[in-house]
Amino acid sequence: MSSAYLQCIEDACRRKQDTKKDGHACAYCGGLLEVKYEFEAFDPENMRRAWHQRRLSGEPIDRSGVWRFRELIPFTGPGDRIISLSEGSTPLVGTRRTGWWAGPVHLTIKHQGNNPTGSFKDLGMTACITRADSRGIRRVACASTGNTSSSMAAYAARAGMKALLFVPYRQISAAKLAQALDFGALVVEVGDTFDEAFRLLREIACELDLYLVNSVNPFRIEGQKTIVAEMLEQRAWQPPDYIVVPGGNLGNVSAIGKGLRELKEFGFIEKVPQLVVVQAAGASPFHQMLAGGLSELTPVDKPDTEATAIRIGHPANWKKAQRVLEWSGGFTESVSDTEIFEAKAMLAEDGVGCEPASAATVAGVRKLVRAGRIPWHADIVCVLTGNQLKDTEYVMRHRSDDQESCQRLLRVEPNLEALRKALAPVVGKSRQSTVDSRQ
Ligand SMILES: *Cc1c(COP(=O)(O)O)cnc(C)c1O
Ligand SMILES: [Zn+2]
Repeated sequence: MSSAYLQCIEDACRRKQDTKKDGHACAYCGGLLEVKYEFEAFDPENMRRAWHQRRLSGEPIDRSGVWRFRELIPFTGPGDRIISLSEGSTPLVGTRRTGWWAGPVHLTIKHQGNNPTGSFKDLGMTACITRADSRGIRRVACASTGNTSSSMAAYAARAGMKALLFVPYRQISAAKLAQALDFGALVVEVGDTFDEAFRLLREIACELDLYLVNSVNPFRIEGQKTIVAEMLEQRAWQPPDYIVVPGGNLGNVSAIGKGLRELKEFGFIEKVPQLVVVQAAGASPFHQMLAGGLSELTPVDKPDTEATAIRIGHPANWKKAQRVLEWSGGFTESVSDTEIFEAKAMLAEDGVGCEPASAATVAGVRKLVRAGRIPWHADIVCVLTGNQLKDTEYVMRHRSDDQESCQRLLRVEPNLEALRKALAPVVGKSRQSTVDSRQ
């Protein structure tokens, strides 16, 4: 049997919850919940070897980058189905120009866009839907800026559950909406912001007997925390100096913090990387709180940024995020949409695509290095949270109009004369000279 239980994170409360039901808030004080375990003693050396070995296995549970590390998330019982789509196992890639541009720093990218539905949300969703399935739940719901919904829809379909999705009216990218529809979710457009849709869902969830899979669901955090084990394994268990993530609802940074904390407690690592959260300037309540030295978060009423995945004014997980930042000695930054665009363009020059929210990390590093808060040559991992194809409207808006630096899309009459004329300034060489230069 599993030893997992839910506990309130509020210091004044810390109460253990009824293990028969999974709430998404403390039954006594309404605080956030986290999953706790009575872990058995680990031998890190043996464990690392076992995890490594599983990479050679063909078993679905071993091929998943989440369940390969199942000893870190022992909340399943022996008879439980694991609902997996082979999530995780995402690449850690070096950068060439981007590290120079943003620093100079030693910059690597953990690309979570290479997940089954194209974002890191899949790591949390496999855990959370597996849990829901083991509890006999047949109807799941979330409010979303897009990626949570794509992911929920896929995993719910896999588990044979009904999926209900609340999204703000006309605020999520077409690709994300299409994914949810394609996986058969019922989509409800409601409210003008994510925060409004989320508030309404929370209010009605209990009444309609909907199981919430937003990142306030503590099992999401469990799945998402395994990214740390995977990343460290890819780095031969040498922690970087900094791990940088974009901040929306702040579930991701909370998960990474929890993962690091547990791995340190078990003796897998000594050094703790500093966690850095980067928010879009128009949706940066968490950054404003910490930068202002405040102890309470003031929500932003009208969050505004083109990076829709982090367009959130009232992040649900801010208390968890605050703790892990404090524990790791981390900090926050905010960046403008222009800075996000520049960072995304720079990554593209390295052949790395991502969605705008993800590029906020690199923009943040550049700003922090310039401000002297991150030293030159620091060893940094930026977590790119979502796939390039998640928001193609953004790219078309910025890359296909005739801003001089971005003139990459030419419309040409269909004849050779017109083609020669249009391409001469770009190609610059005739066929003859190309042949010459090869000799
Ligand atoms: C969800 C999401 C974020 C924000 O993550 P939080 O856990 O809500 O802070 C950032 N980028 C992308 C692409 C996302 O899908
Ligand atoms: Zn409580």
